Amino acid sequence: MKKLILEARINEYAMRDHNPNVPWTADEIAETAARVRQEGASILHFHARTVDGQPLNTLASYDEIIRKVRAKSDILILPTLGFISNDADAKKRIDNVVALARDPATKPDIAPIDTGSANLEIFNKELGHAEFAGRIYENTTESLIHYARQLKQAGVKPKMVSWSVGFTRRALMLMDMGLIEEPGYMLFHMTDGRVITGHPGTVAGLEAHLMFLPRDRQIEWTANVLGGNLIALADTIARRGGHMAMGIGDYPYPELDYPTNEVLIRETVRTIRSAGREPATPDEVREMLKLS
Ligand code: ZN
Repeated sequence: MKKLILEARINEYAMRDHNPNVPWTADEIAETAARVRQEGASILHFHARTVDGQPLNTLASYDEIIRKVRAKSDILILPTLGFISNDADAKKRIDNVVALARDPATKPDIAPIDTGSANLEIFNKELGHAEFAGRIYENTTESLIHYARQLKQAGVKPKMVSWSVGFTRRALMLMDMGLIEEPGYMLFHMTDGRVITGHPGTVAGLEAHLMFLPRDRQIEWTANVLGGNLIALADTIARRGGHMAMGIGDYPYPELDYPTNEVLIRETVRTIRSAGREPATPDEVREMLKLS
């Protein structure tokens, strides 16, 4: 069976009030990278953070993190573009990645493009109240075309991030326009708990995504659940030929007693092996996704 690409989503913008193991500094991220790689992860997805956990979008911080990670590990590098913390000028979100790509030592292997805009309220069902009701994550089609062009020029593989079927259709549009090449790498970004923007992190939520993934396109799909337990879907994903994007950045995992990222990756590997899949190495991922 096809090897499974295991991406570690180690921190996102998670604070430490639930799970204290979330890495923030460059040294913590590099140490985590080496450990998750050892347990079977092949891609590191990370967000630069300040020492007190705030979002950090400086080129210098990404430069430092990537160099420190690569000094300890051969894991593939997939930084964020900064999400809503980096939206003063949406088009500029890609600038750090483009600058990092100029030096082979800091060139990211993959970079994400969220192929649509999203309302990002937090719904507190008990109180019947929506917090952050005015918050929006804006990705105009013009910005998406700009990101895709820049990544293509820089030789960085795009990860198409789909929050719902409309996002998938827009990702396919970018492929039809020749801006993103096969094999595509697509993340089904499901959301649970108080985040209601994505498909729920259930088998039905995943299957609804898969129904709209055309079979005549060469696309490797992976999945995460922001605010929910992805381990519960591991068996289904493994058997359906998908890949996984797993980490305590998305969810603190009280079911596993608030583990570190490496413990969570170990648990994921155990689950996918029982479904007959082995985790891919970084070299195998380079081959599968045709990374440059
Ligand atoms: Zn992220």
